[in-house]
This record gives sequence, structure tokens and C-alpha cells, in this order.
Amino acid sequence: MKKNRILTPGPTPVPQEVLLSMAKPTIHHRTAQFRKIFKEVNDNLKYVFKTQNDIFTLSSSGTGAMEAAVVNLLSPGDTAICVGGGKFAERWSEICKTYSIKTIAIDVEWGNVVSPTEIEKTLDENKQIKVVFTTLSETSTGVLTDIKKIAQITGKRDVVIVTDAISALGGEELETDAWGVDVVVSGSQKGLMSPPGLAFCSVSPKAWKLVAVSKSPRYYFDFRIAKKALDKGDTAFTPAITLCIGLNTALKMIKEETLENVIQRQGRLAAALRRAMQALGLELFASIPANVVTSVCLPKGIDGDVLVAMMQNVYGVTIAGGQAHLKGKIIRIGSMGHMNEFDIITGISALELVLCKMGYKFEHGVGVGAAQKELLKSE
Ligand SMILES: *Cc1c(COP(=O)(O)O)cnc(C)c1O
Repeated sequence: MKKNRILTPGPTPVPQEVLLSMAKPTIHHRTAQFRKIFKEVNDNLKYVFKTQNDIFTLSSSGTGAMEAAVVNLLSPGDTAICVGGGKFAERWSEICKTYSIKTIAIDVEWGNVVSPTEIEKTLDENKQIKVVFTTLSETSTGVLTDIKKIAQITGKRDVVIVTDAISALGGEELETDAWGVDVVVSGSQKGLMSPPGLAFCSVSPKAWKLVAVSKSPRYYFDFRIAKKALDKGDTAFTPAITLCIGLNTALKMIKEETLENVIQRQGRLAAALRRAMQALGLELFASIPANVVTSVCLPKGIDGDVLVAMMQNVYGVTIAGGQAHLKGKIIRIGSMGHMNEFDIITGISALELVLCKMGYKFEHGVGVGAAQKELLKSE
């Protein structure tokens, strides 16, 4: 019998409570019943985002909120900085180019982080820049960027900072208002323990000034239409009702555990994962590793694609491989969302078994043992 377990950096496991709350007959959205749920969702999203800004809930995957941020903030011919360094970071510049927005790329080697000073210098040299697009945890490389520092730089200027927190939200420290992050985008299927299909975008008053003058074409993702509805506690179009109901349950679970404790738990699990990899003689890929996803370099002769497929086919444990030029070279293990010690231990154990089958030499159980020691330390 094969039991399936998902340890990918999105989608992530959905708790039974969330699944059950969605297994009920569909309700109509223009009702007091749904408005109550939507209000709770909005209030609890603000709790998780740590913001008083409006948060728009869109029926799309996370990328929809990225596209929404671009078209609502910028007009064709406007200039934006797009910080590189990973597959998702590069998506910002792809979307900008699609909408004829001029991009100034700040190249970052995959696995490294951007230097805030370089952003500052670029802003000083190019006064026409309106927006800086960044990524908090770059899920393709496992790197965590110092958004707080970058927001300090944009905060002193007439420049809006946009942060992709799709994988970071609910797992990494993020102070939307206290740090002054104008626009934060996220999605339902990572730290928020819900199925894929909802995207979120918080918009500060400073960013709203750009929304008001943007000339980019937009209809479904027009924040002006969304705001009119949101001010009445509604969505402009039929929301993904069932997903909102599931998300409501998930957010209540996060609130009950408290966001601080959730983030601390993610930190413990990631520390255990990192220790295990070290004990197995595997190097971490990220220079500054995030807690929500751990990226690991593979030794010569071990093909990451084969490893990932074997873990899934033989043991039912799904992790992620490398993307783009990292395909086959790294693996990525998610620890975000509904995860505890035993999910991590199981993942490490399955990895050991497959590494062994693939001919990698190490002492059996050394990864699991190291993880347990680390977990005991932080109990
Ligand atoms: C998952 C992810 C995305 C893409 O989100 P989709 O929901 O697949 O559209 C973008 N950015 C980051 C950092 C992610 O982790």
C-alpha cells in the first residue's frame, strides 16, 4: 500500500478540518451567510499579512495577483526594477514585458540574495523608476531576501515596493505595515494550508495613487472595481466560494496557534531539515536559506529528477526538483503550512532510502538522527 505525502513548496497538505469545511453544499455569495465568512477571511488575512491595507482576494493562482499588481500599478512605458535570482523573481519581468513596462533588471545569481545597496544605487541613477518588484522567499532557490531593508530604501522615495510573498506568507517574518511594504502578493496553496485557487494582493495608500492613474488594460483584475465591492464587503464577481470557506477555516487555525508560533514551528522544522542534510553530507543551495523551503545540492552522479520520481513512485513522498538550469541538480523540500516533526522525519527517511538505492554512501539514519537531535534541542 502506498500512502501519499506531499512535502513540496506548494501545494502543501490541507488539514482535514479545512477539507471538511469545504465538503458542504454550495452557498450563494450575495447572502449574509457568505458575507460573514468573507469578512472573517478579510480580517484574518490582515492578521496574517500584518496590515491595515485593503487586501484583494482574487480567484486565480498566485501568479494572478502578480499580474494584477503589475497592471494596476504601472502604465505602458513606465519603468520598474525587477530583482532577479530565481524562476519566480524572473516572472515579474516577464509580466512587465508583456504589458510594455520598461524593466531594469538587477541580476542576482541563483542561490544568492540581492544587495539592497544595489537597489538604492539603481534608484538614485534612474529617477523615473516607479516600482521595485521583489521576492521574499524565492521558492526556486530557497533563498530569503531582506525585504525590510529594501522597504526602508523605497520608503524614503516616491517609489512603491511590491513583494511576492506567495511562499513566505505564514512561514517567514513579514511586517507589511511596520516595514512599509506597499504591495504584498500571496496565494492560498502554500503557507495558508488551503487548496490552490485563491490569490491575494494588499495595497497601501501610497501604492493606491499609482492604481488610480494606471493606464494598463485590465478588467477582471481591476483593483478599482475590486475596491468598490470590497468596501461593501463583497467581491465584484462570483468568488471561489468553496475555497474561501476552506481558507476561512485555515486562517482560524493559524490564528488559534498564533502567527508567531506558526512561524516559530516552521523555523524549527527547517532547522531540523538543514541539520539532516548536513549530516548526510549534502550542501544547502541557498546562501541565506528560507525556512519555508529547503534547497539541497545533489552529489555528482545523483540525478535529482530520478530521485524525486523514485521518492514519489516508491514511497509516495512528493518533494520538488530543481527548475530551469537547476533541473536535476537540486531538490527542494517544503516545510510550509500544515507540517510537523513527523512529516519532516518521514521526508528525510524516504530521502535516505532513495539515496541509498541510488548508490550514495552514508551511515543509515544519520539524517533522521540529526533532525531528531535538532528538534529535541528546540522543544
Ligand atoms: C508558488 C509561487 C509562485 C507561483 O504561484 P502560482 O500559485 O503557481 O501561480 C510565485 N512566486 C513564488 C515565490 C511562489 O512560491
